[in-house]
Amino acid sequence: MENQTDDAAGSAMDRLRRHLAEISDVEKAAGVLGWDQQTYMPPGGAEHRADQLATLSRIAHTWFTGDTTRDLLDAAQADAEAEGEDSDNAAIVRRNRREYEISRKLPNDFVAEMTHASILSNEAWQKARRTDDFALFRPHLEKMVDFARRSADLYGYEDHPYDALLNLYEPEMKTAEVKAIFDVLRPAQVAMVKAIGEKPKPRTDFLARDYPETGQENFGLKVVQDFGYDLSRGRLDIAPHPFETDFGRNDVRITTRYDRHMPTQAIYGIFHEAGHAMYEQNVSERFSRTLLDSGASMVFHESQSRLWENVIGRSRGVLTHYFPLLQETFPENLKDVTAEEFYRAVNVVKPSLIRVEADEVTYNLHIMLRFELELALICGDLEVKDLPDAWAAKMREYLGITPPNDADGVMQDTHWSSGSFGYFPTYALGNVMSAQIFDTALKAHPEIPDELARGKFDTLFHWLVNNLYVHGRKYLPKALAQKVNGQPLDPHPYLAYLQQKYGDIYGL
Ligand code: ZN
Repeated sequence: MENQTDDAAGSAMDRLRRHLAEISDVEKAAGVLGWDQQTYMPPGGAEHRADQLATLSRIAHTWFTGDTTRDLLDAAQADAEAEGEDSDNAAIVRRNRREYEISRKLPNDFVAEMTHASILSNEAWQKARRTDDFALFRPHLEKMVDFARRSADLYGYEDHPYDALLNLYEPEMKTAEVKAIFDVLRPAQVAMVKAIGEKPKPRTDFLARDYPETGQENFGLKVVQDFGYDLSRGRLDIAPHPFETDFGRNDVRITTRYDRHMPTQAIYGIFHEAGHAMYEQNVSERFSRTLLDSGASMVFHESQSRLWENVIGRSRGVLTHYFPLLQETFPENLKDVTAEEFYRAVNVVKPSLIRVEADEVTYNLHIMLRFELELALICGDLEVKDLPDAWAAKMREYLGITPPNDADGVMQDTHWSSGSFGYFPTYALGNVMSAQIFDTALKAHPEIPDELARGKFDTLFHWLVNNLYVHGRKYLPKALAQKVNGQPLDPHPYLAYLQQKYGDIYGL
């Protein structure tokens, strides 16, 4: 099946753009179905929906990986380059050629076999997690590790097979760079967790009181609109596993989930997803329907969700500003609580089993543990059968706790079950990038902290839009880091941020 790009009108670049636009349209349409699947679809719709999504994804994949894409890229290349290396058209050709070449590395039969195995593996994981039965999941995970190794060989790499996997989520990122960053963070964060463990715990009792959902929603939406999330081009719904999705820059949606006795889950979930959404809403219109109309990479994307969720949303200045509104929204729950107590409660540090519930100080340690185990699995230094023990040993070493079972230990995340190796590091590196970008913004505008404490976000927001968001995927992450921060990804600003903030809270 062909799309309509054999229509020969216009320049080679015009034809390439039409081709990419139609692929983008199919992907966004699949996105709408995917959003509906996770928000409003009745359970009975699951089977038909899976078929519809598979068909649309096959169409987009076939169109993109077909010879037409290569021919159009070849035909447009000279004209695009003539516009200059930094031109939009040169970037559109360059980035799509990169993705095209990656997409052609795996033979179709191999992809089909791997996709089929990953669906079975994910099903087995769901059951194994429910029944805490690692033995049930083990043969599937062994297969997924094997597929990851074979994929790495097919993609090719220079130094380390894991480089080939990382590159799928964070272009050009190398295993050695991740190791170097984690080697700076690990000892410092482990030491902080230990030191904080010996200090008195802040009071958190009031966070378990009964907070009606509408209050949580109204408060979360008010704050993210102040941040800069445009609700005339966005909306908030409920989903069991919260996410952000977009169907073009003018329709960027977020979801959250509510727990009446854990209001921080929904509120900080809204901040997090709105951080992703503001990025998507502000990619330049010039990249619409070119496949460049999205955040630059996983790390850059996560840097923005973490920036708005944590660096801004959990800051003393911002929380102090919004505390009267919180008290007005939940008068009974917060009548015996001060702004400072609230600030300390939402920044409490407590080693825990579950990554997605981890605080800022312990979070990266959950990621380092996964990264080290993934490396060992891919290199063959660790066998899947020994994974639960290796997991428990690292949990004790980094966080001082032992998982009571595998369901809340090695089987807690979905990523490995579907073969996503190389994804986890981007979460921690996003944290690292968030602090570095915030530092750069402060150097340009030292007035930002005072403004944030007055609930005024536009200086920071516009700086982010103009220096980062507008570029979309025009630049690869390393070039973009250089453009935004003037230097490569560096763990020291994040470490300084943690030490300053938590040193103050816990009197370290
Ligand atoms: Zn995120």
